[in-house]
Amino acid sequence: MNTEGNAPQDHPGLVPQRRRFLTLLAACGTAAIALPALADVVPLPETDPTAQALGYKADATQVDTAKFPKHTPQQQCANCNFFQGTGASGPCQLFPGKAVNAKGWCSAYAAKA
Ligand code: SF4
Repeated sequence: MNTEGNAPQDHPGLVPQRRRFLTLLAACGTAAIALPALADVVPLPETDPTAQALGYKADATQVDTAKFPKHTPQQQCANCNFFQGTGASGPCQLFPGKAVNAKGWCSAYAAKA
């Protein structure tokens, strides 16, 4: 196999270019890992089509009780079986990649077992 001309010393500019490429590659990998974590914190807007269909309100006191008569003041995302957060907001299994308000509510509410 002829490797003549492929050694870095034959092309002194390649070593810094390779180092820069590897640095950029590492930076891209770090960004790719961080992006899903950022996506988890996107708040669910009430205007989201699925949220509208389920009557989601970020503030459960604003639920239209005429439209959703089974809603009670005690029902909130924080004590719903689909809520996976621990703070003021967090992920809901029904809205992947979005965070719902712990004091919110939607018609898919199911009390934690
Ligand atoms: Fe909140 Fe539960 Fe509806 Fe998710 S399913 S938005 S946690 S009430």
